[in-house]
Amino acid sequence: MTAKAASAVVKTNARMNLKYFNIEEFDSPDYQGSAVLHMDRDFLRMLDTARGYSNGTPFKITSGYRTPEKNRAIYKNLGKPEIKSSHLYGRAADIQATTSRDRFNIVNALIKAGFNRIGISGKSGFIHVDNDCDKYGGQKSSDVIWIY
Ligand SMILES: [Zn+2]
Repeated sequence: MTAKAASAVVKTNARMNLKYFNIEEFDSPDYQGSAVLHMDRDFLRMLDTARGYSNGTPFKITSGYRTPEKNRAIYKNLGKPEIKSSHLYGRAADIQATTSRDRFNIVNALIKAGFNRIGISGKSGFIHVDNDCDKYGGQKSSDVIWIY
């Protein structure tokens, strides 16, 4: 990381005052520093609030912001047509969840914090959450939980 990028990270964290996350945790893996530039601030604030309700279950972020190249690669790898993922707009994160208790604690915390769009993958062990609905200035349906 360059000194300039490091300084941007510190400033963003200070300005946002996130209690549980470093913003680099949301970087696209092919673009260090991308989360500072592209993650939705309201999304991060809500997720930070949710983490406080998780009964100690950590929120390990397995995917945050995605560059268009990274998003394309993920769908190609899955053998599925690419969709306009909310990760492209910095409005989503995937959180590791491999036990039934962790899934409960995470989903409960997300709903308590006001999230209304959640996807659960048992097979791949993660929970997707985004704020890409009209209530929060996004474009997709509210009040949905889907499975992968
Ligand atoms: Zn996701």
